[in-house]
Amino acid sequence: MNIVMMGAPGAGKGTQADLMERRLRLPHVASGDLFRENIKNNTDLGKQVRAILDRGDLVPDSVTIGMIRQRMSQPDCAQGIILDGFPRTIQQAEALDTLFAERADRLNRVLYIKIDNDVLVGRLAGRWFCKICQTPYNVVSSPPKVAGVCDRDGGELIQRPDDRPETVAHRLRVYFDQTSPLIEHYRAKGLLSEINGEQGIEQVYGDIVQQIEGATQP
Ligand code: AMP
Repeated sequence: MNIVMMGAPGAGKGTQADLMERRLRLPHVASGDLFRENIKNNTDLGKQVRAILDRGDLVPDSVTIGMIRQRMSQPDCAQGIILDGFPRTIQQAEALDTLFAERADRLNRVLYIKIDNDVLVGRLAGRWFCKICQTPYNVVSSPPKVAGVCDRDGGELIQRPDDRPETVAHRLRVYFDQTSPLIEHYRAKGLLSEINGEQGIEQVYGDIVQQIEGATQP
């Protein structure tokens, strides 16, 4: 089963993909996480993309597609994959079709987590993570017990550089200009399932489970 999670930054793709990873036993591959890992480890790729991520722009298609191709060739992706944050352009979507075709496979479903723009801005600007265990918090909807401190391990809470208010607006513009056309692209192919992302995490997940049941039917 191959799934793409779509939706604006802050829609909850990563949270839902983590839940699905456990249920479906398929790897959750998040392009943003792969880039951030490379930046943290100061690899050549990391050096190449750091400034682009900080600005909130998209990494060039050729670089992103190369990274995903490499990740998809790992043995854990052989049975299927949950992609989060990729594809983000029509060119990436076409490259993904080729990557699946090369292994006689195909994309089964695109889950589009739909959410109002005003809600997104609040979610992104309020999003903080534990520096140690990565647990996400939101200062409004799911705050830690003590401000700035992780409930689980007492780690310091930090903000992604690109979640700062000045970059959030730009990321949303990039999403609406370059990524949102993919919604119609996948709807036309009959692959799109729309999920109401403004519900609680459990309800969104319930809707997703309903949608993916039957997605493997021919
Ligand atoms: P995310 O964690 O998905 O919000 O991604 C963080 C950043 O990584 C984005 O703002 C882009 O700079 C870069 N990025 C992630 N995925 C892609 C992609 N599919 N194409 C281009 N850039 C990407």
